[in-house]
Amino acid sequence: MKIGSYDVRMIESGRFALDGGAMFGIVPKPLWDRRAPADDRNRVDLATRLLLLRGEDRVVLVDTGMGDDYSEKERDIYKIDQEHSSLARSLATEGLSPDDVTDVVLTHLHFDHAGGATRRTEDGDLVPAFERARYHVQRRNFDWARDPSERDRGSYLAENFDPLADAGCLELHDGPGEILPDIFAEVVDGHTFGQQVIRVSDDAATLLYCADLLPTAAHVPVPYVMGYDLQPLATVREKHELYARAIENDWILALEHDPTTAAIRIREGARGFEVAEIVTID
Ligand SMILES: [Zn+2]
Repeated sequence: MKIGSYDVRMIESGRFALDGGAMFGIVPKPLWDRRAPADDRNRVDLATRLLLLRGEDRVVLVDTGMGDDYSEKERDIYKIDQEHSSLARSLATEGLSPDDVTDVVLTHLHFDHAGGATRRTEDGDLVPAFERARYHVQRRNFDWARDPSERDRGSYLAENFDPLADAGCLELHDGPGEILPDIFAEVVDGHTFGQQVIRVSDDAATLLYCADLLPTAAHVPVPYVMGYDLQPLATVREKHELYARAIENDWILALEHDPTTAAIRIREGARGFEVAEIVTID
């Protein structure tokens, strides 16, 4: 798909699973289980689907997935599956190596978004996984990630972002706006503080990469807010604001975590907001 000066692709970097209760907050299981069936350990399957933008002499990767530095126990808990897809293989399929990436935009620094931002060398040192890239993060999210609350500190692993700061490749952004040519960040605070969702537009189309503001198509109903969210009522407000603009302007909403659906358009039906169309991005 071409939008403005960018060739737009969605690429998968792996699969994992999280507790279904945590994924759907206060929504009762009989309701969410129909949309996202739980396995025998109550987990729902998720993808880590990344946005790849090529144009303006840049290769821009938005989010990096989980990375691959996990113990057997963690692989079991999170059902980490990189057989199905991996970041390296998906980039190779696009004819790219990590050194081709000029910019990495991290929507926020949770491990399932920033885990692939760094890699461990043979000597055991942690270094940026994309050696030639600048990394773009909102300053408020970076500050929060370094000093999170007891409630969310399990989601922020310093090994995913401290090496970026040490290497001097981090660009901290202060608020919404154009972070790269014709690539715009909008900042939301319901899921965590300073999450940036990424918008590309031209006269014909707008695509918004929703990250954890709208992780899967099953989360389209406004009250389907993740239990992980630090400020769930802010998420409710942010979803309403997003939906109003998305419906009015026919936006494509790209879904990072949906295991089957890369992108959708939505509409308001008799029983609330719903998927209007599944969009193929190729
Ligand atoms: Zn998150």
